[in-house]
Amino acid sequence: MSKIARRKFIQLSAVAAAGCFVAPARQAQAGDLPHLSVDDPMAAAMKYTEDASSVDPATRNNPAAEQNCANCALIQGNDGDAWRPCQIFPGKAVAAAGWCSVWAPKA
Ligand code: SF4
Repeated sequence: MSKIARRKFIQLSAVAAAGCFVAPARQAQAGDLPHLSVDDPMAAAMKYTEDASSVDPATRNNPAAEQNCANCALIQGNDGDAWRPCQIFPGKAVAAAGWCSVWAPKA
């Protein structure tokens, strides 16, 4: 397994584990949730930013173009909302224009 494939596997495993903690019965509405702070320790660990355009594509693990929270497989809530729930950060809303290192393409 290549270094990049192993890193991706570990990231996706973390995503799957985090998804287990999301309450399946009720998806939080973004309006109910406080905004995720870039200073939050987990957000910082995942290199979360509210502005995906500020991220140098060369520093991302995933080479796909045009990555942001709105087109990430882990985003929840309604298309078009500026702040939306995310499976990785339960109880917080992330910026649709944001990004973090766990970004994954929608299927
Ligand atoms: Fe969540 Fe995806 Fe945005 Fe990361 S890139 S904060 S996983 S929606």
